[in-house]
Amino acid sequence: MADTKKILKCPACGKDMEKVFIPSQGINLDICTQGCGGIYFDNREFANFDEQDEDISAILEKIANKEFEKVDTTQDRICPNCGAKMVKNSTSIKKTIEVDDCYSCGGKFLDNEELIKIREEYENNEQRDADILKYVYSSVGKEMEEIDKNYAKSITNRNMAQKLFYRIMGL
Ligand SMILES: [Zn+2]
Ligand SMILES: [Zn+2]
Repeated sequence: MADTKKILKCPACGKDMEKVFIPSQGINLDICTQGCGGIYFDNREFANFDEQDEDISAILEKIANKEFEKVDTTQDRICPNCGAKMVKNSTSIKKTIEVDDCYSCGGKFLDNEELIKIREEYENNEQRDADILKYVYSSVGKEMEEIDKNYAKSITNRNMAQKLFYRIMGL
């Protein structure tokens, strides 16, 4: 379990993050209100905020219409909770937004405005998953086509070999 009272250092800009209480969920989030506007989610917390009908007003109050420090989003981040190196992942197959995930403690860091962009990508996670499935099916489909083609080729080769065999044998 994460120490919920520990002040976290922002993994993007190094400033102290502010604990922001989210009444609708009864949890504290860590938001970089003094620096870059990034948000750190503990394990599973993020699932409460990524869909359009989930309430993020308490977060927006802290970050909307504010000027934040610009940070290099391509840089590797270190998890502020456990110290492990975070991994960049796309939030969907559209691959337009990359977030930093900690595989060690399950934490997730979003740069400023990424939460809003993620919520705009899909109305809900069913649509997000449906898009992934569609992609998987289409790439599996392509693979099957490729296997079929190779199979067809191997049959032709066999016919050729057979013809050659007959010719050599003078049949
Ligand atoms: Zn920051
Ligand atoms: Zn971590």
